[in-house]
Amino acid sequence: MNSYFNSPKPAYSFEIFPPKGTGSLASVFATIDELASLSPDLISVTYGAGGTSRENTVEIASKIQNSYNIPAVAHLTCVGATKVSLDTILDKLQANGVSNILALRGDLVEGEPLGEFKHASDLIEYMKRHYSFTVFAACYPEKHPEAPSLEADIDNLKKKVDAGADVLITQLFFSNDDFFRFRDKVRAAGINTPIETGIMPITSASQVTRMVNLCGATLPETIRRKLAAYGHNSMAMKEAGIAYAVEQISDLLASETDGIHLYTMNQPSIAKRISESLRGILYSRRVKCD
Ligand code: FAD
Repeated sequence: MNSYFNSPKPAYSFEIFPPKGTGSLASVFATIDELASLSPDLISVTYGAGGTSRENTVEIASKIQNSYNIPAVAHLTCVGATKVSLDTILDKLQANGVSNILALRGDLVEGEPLGEFKHASDLIEYMKRHYSFTVFAACYPEKHPEAPSLEADIDNLKKKVDAGADVLITQLFFSNDDFFRFRDKVRAAGINTPIETGIMPITSASQVTRMVNLCGATLPETIRRKLAAYGHNSMAMKEAGIAYAVEQISDLLASETDGIHLYTMNQPSIAKRISESLRGILYSRRVKCD
């Protein structure tokens, strides 16, 4: 398993997505150029998230791993996957030296069936049986939207861990208390797997509304106030969003999180502002000090 999660210092990772539609790979590599200068422990690359491309995940993850020398995490989903199609991707990743996979069921796409795997746990079980990847899986501090209760969702999370998940990454959340309650329940259920906390900085009112509708995260009153006050002013909203993310992360770091996973939204300038604001806290707790 990755050493970042064995160390007492929290891991620091970034998530990016492949270009949408006709967007160019060059723009993603320009994003990675900037993110790489922030010395993350890992960079993960999404796969078809929100209906975006599944085409370039392998190529981007391989380049992160080999040209930037940063450990890459390739996301993979069950949507439309067969054992044959999955093997093709996993063999390529393995040959390219990518050793981390985030195994997901995937966002359901209308008109596209799931394929041979119904849940992330099926994917994890298959990968652990046939390959030697370090496997990451998703978890949901406010429960997955389809789960009847948080308890039922944690029972299902245990299936992913029992199938071999090595590291968990949370869905975005805005209230750390929701995460602390969730972590207590997960630990009480006997799940001791490291949990990286997924943080999405708010960059605009429309972005946060879209994300909240998609994943069901609760907006605390303090964020609602900021949206009401600054939502019409993109500069002010961005500043308030960065300040909120910095405060949220510094509180998580004070509370023994296993890692911070920043949903960068391919906006390296925001990741840079956050990383710089946290430098004294984050970097002093990590191996790679500068
Ligand atoms: P599962 O673990 O299969 O869970 C889905 C639902 O089924 C839950 O309600 C769960 O309680 C239940 N369940 C789980 N296992 C079982 C079981 N064995 N039996 C019965 N019920 C079960 N989506 C993308 O399409 N591409 C991406 O790149 C992507 N990246 C993501 C990264 C992170 C960090 C996170 C948190 C999410 C990401 N997603 C991505 C979204 C994710 O695919 C969706 O949230 C999806 O709806 C659920 O995925 P999962 O892997 O958690 O599914």
